[in-house]
Amino acid sequence: MELIKGNEIATSIIAELKAEVATIEGRKPCLALVRVGEDPASVSYVKKKEKTAAEIDVDSRIILPPVTISQAELEALIDELNADETVDGILVQSPLPAPLDELAIFRRVSPDKDVDGFHTINLGKVAQEDSSGFVSCTPAGVMELLARSDVDLRGKHVVVLGRSLIVGKPVALLALQKKAGANGTVTICHSATTNLAQITQMADVLIAAIGRPHFVTADMVKPGAVIIDVGINRIPDATRKSGNRLVGDIDFDAVSPKVSKITPVPGGIGPMTVAMLMKNTVKARQLRATG
Ligand code: NDP
Repeated sequence: MELIKGNEIATSIIAELKAEVATIEGRKPCLALVRVGEDPASVSYVKKKEKTAAEIDVDSRIILPPVTISQAELEALIDELNADETVDGILVQSPLPAPLDELAIFRRVSPDKDVDGFHTINLGKVAQEDSSGFVSCTPAGVMELLARSDVDLRGKHVVVLGRSLIVGKPVALLALQKKAGANGTVTICHSATTNLAQITQMADVLIAAIGRPHFVTADMVKPGAVIIDVGINRIPDATRKSGNRLVGDIDFDAVSPKVSKITPVPGGIGPMTVAMLMKNTVKARQLRATG
């Protein structure tokens, strides 16, 4: 079994981006990070994004509206950022607290600043295989990780667990694309799928994004399969100071001896997501420079 080291691969991508940013003349790329409320996971994700941006000389502008912000006020804030010529990318940290309408906010972000790739136009471009848009960061991270781990999906049966707009659907569309590295035969499973284990047992490449700790057990995977674990779940662990630890959707200890390649959690897809966000931000800056 080979461990796919997302941390190391993300570090190389960050180094490549740093070199690219150094060649940009004039203003450095600028990423606006909007976080509403104090959800601890969101606080830590935004911190990580800010830190990585600083590493590659991308300016970040952190905007922290109170949890009481109304939909109209948040939309007005997005409009201001859309109009601001010094902002290249806008990321609204998900999940937004209720009763804010997250999808409406994602659609409010100008498509040319939508570095999270959640706008209808950018998701549509993924379906149309138009590379001028932004691919959402976690699905893009999965594809980049596969490519840099020499996994070609051509002719492979790719099974995706989960059909969210953020992960499942776009990663399935990317795996299906008619281009080098992709060309997979894709099955998408969700909570209404019957005989799920029979389907996962047929997967040459299994991508799990359901948010259920240790959901995929050894009997559910084909020997020699490639396993990509997108899930990030916090479970109680009395041996840790924090009282908990992060695990994926895959029962890593039981599954890993049976497969050819597997991503760990943490240190797999998580760092790739941040690297792809930086890649999209640099792309947004380059497109504005030439557009
Ligand atoms: P969602 O909750 O939006 O979607 C989960 C999907 O899994 C849904 O399609 C749901 O089906 C399906 N599902 C849930 N339970 C089951 C089940 N028992 N059997 C089959 N399908 C099931 O989650 P996200 O897509 O946003 O995230 C998924 C996981 O990935 C989470 O753990 C999240 O933390 C992690 N994540 C990690 C990122 C990273 O950077 N590594 C980034 C984003 C997410 P249905 O549609 O029928 O409800």
